[in-house]
Amino acid sequence: MDIHTIEEIVRRPAPPAPGAWREGDAWLGGGTWLYSEPQLALRRLIDLDGFGWTPIELVEETLVLAATCTIRELHDWPVPDDWAARALIRQCCDALLGSFKIWNMATVGGNLCLALPAGPMISLAAGLDGTCVIWTPDGAKRRIPAAAFVTGDRTNALGRGELLRAIELPVAGFRSRSAFRQISLTPRGRSAALLIGLGAPSGGFALTVTAATKRPVRLTFPAVPDAAALAAALREAIPEGLYHHDVHGAPDWRRRLTFHLAEDIRRELAA
Ligand SMILES: Cc1cc2nc3c(=O)[nH]c(=O)nc-3n(C[C@H](O)[C@H](O)[C@H](O)COP(=O)(O)OP(=O)(O)OC[C@H]3O[C@@H](n4cnc5c(N)ncnc54)[C@H](O)[C@@H]3O)c2cc1C
Repeated sequence: MDIHTIEEIVRRPAPPAPGAWREGDAWLGGGTWLYSEPQLALRRLIDLDGFGWTPIELVEETLVLAATCTIRELHDWPVPDDWAARALIRQCCDALLGSFKIWNMATVGGNLCLALPAGPMISLAAGLDGTCVIWTPDGAKRRIPAAAFVTGDRTNALGRGELLRAIELPVAGFRSRSAFRQISLTPRGRSAALLIGLGAPSGGFALTVTAATKRPVRLTFPAVPDAAALAAALREAIPEGLYHHDVHGAPDWRRRLTFHLAEDIRRELAA
């Protein structure tokens, strides 16, 4: 689509700096959402591709995904064979139901920043207890848990002019056993519920609920809980108003799915 309000595209971006951010600016990831509808408030796009970040790096015990890593690059990355939770990467990529054009352009960072409840990179990052690395306009860096990055339907924790630089995923998460459940209202529809369970070798259990809720909800337990304890924890952590409502599913249905899939995951990882 022609987005006729854009007057300038910055191809050689600089890190955020005091006074550099203008009204009408936006960071440009893959552009799959930015170019998909009119952007009447925008005047200038700052193309993150120009930073030339390495898409995926394994730095000791951390898998570092640049915000500009595409879904395709992540999907095709050769995950080490001995990572028990290796399937999660492809399962989450596959949950983004776009054409090959979307897959080749959409970035991991753009998916988190757009903050749709059905953002599968949000599910991956939160499910694996990732950390978001954020560059701030005063030239500093801050880090927040990925589960806290998305704060609601289409809202995130970025302040004015802040940039999501990378997502750090601890390799320890990949050494856990994983269970993945995803359901859509229609065969090729957006996720209505996407839940990820991790069973750590130490016995710890983590359950992350996404898509059913407006923001991720991550629950952790020292050991796999029994069914009643898990259901009680879900009831406490997710008030009725946190279940998402759109054309891809009604909140009461998403709530039912959440409890059902959570119990399914609990049983699988308890086995
Ligand atoms: C056919 C189709 C199907 C889709 N299916 C899904 C789906 O199933 N689930 C889903 O979640 N989305 C879906 N989308 C929406 C969108 O394509 C994806 O969310 C995609 O991952 C966005 O990434 P992008 O790099 O293209 O973001 P862009 O369009 O470049 O940017 C999205 C937003 O994030 C901001 N942004 C991008 N990168 C950064 C950064 N590093 N730091 C700060 N701000 C940044 C931009 O300024 C913009 O506001 C779909 C889109 C289409 C057209």
